Amino acid sequence: MTLLLDDITLTYPDGDGRLTALDRVDLDVPAGGLTAVVGPSGSGKSSLLAVAATLVTPDSGRVVIDGTEATGLRRADAAELRRRTLGIVFQQPNLLPSLTALEQLQLMAHLDGRRPRDVRDAARELLSAVGLADQAHRRPHQLSGGQRQRINIARALMNAPRVLLVDEPTSALDHERGAAVLELLARLTRERGTATVLVTHDPGHLGVADQVVEMVDGRLTGAAVSP
Ligand code: ADP
Ligand code: MG
Repeated sequence: MTLLLDDITLTYPDGDGRLTALDRVDLDVPAGGLTAVVGPSGSGKSSLLAVAATLVTPDSGRVVIDGTEATGLRRADAAELRRRTLGIVFQQPNLLPSLTALEQLQLMAHLDGRRPRDVRDAARELLSAVGLADQAHRRPHQLSGGQRQRINIARALMNAPRVLLVDEPTSALDHERGAAVLELLARLTRERGTATVLVTHDPGHLGVADQVVEMVDGRLTGAAVSP
């Protein structure tokens, strides 16, 4: 249990009342495995990732990341935990238009006080791992959507996170490119031993998962759909 969500409830204000986005959710994500969370739009998948990422504090329940209980940490300590242990891949790559692929990755780790040469080597190694060694000096507008999403994934791995959180990474891609990105995620998860949570509304993506859970109206059910 590199990532553990324990009895998480999250509500949002909704008119006079509260909307329950996560309803007593339990999830245990082991290292080196890919856990897929499927479910329709609005079922609470992104809320679950936001709680796991310590970006949103739940009403109740515990988030434990790599042995540290994240719920209840002060803001600065939560930010430090995120930086040290989490890689986050959102739906849109959000690459900086003026930076090359290599620089997008380097930027992550320069914030961290590592030696520039080590950072560059790590960035080059990761670009190779995602199949983009020969695109290192291209800027986002010179790359395809699939290539940009690969850079997004490589960037999330720059600080060697224990936990990788991925929200609908293929929504802007065609089926074939989407499938390749998912296979890449599964391979990197095994090779780097990350505890990976992949949120998707596309049941066609489940073949790469080690564990599948389904989200319905804020509740998680077990492997309703087998991988
Ligand atoms: P999914 O990612 O599965 O589409 P979300 O987690 O984004 O689902 O949303 C779950 C529910 O919570 C939806 O009903 C959505 O409208 C609501 N919701 C999400 N974020 C907020 C927010 N910041 N404030 C209020 N309601 C929200
Ligand atoms: Mg969502």
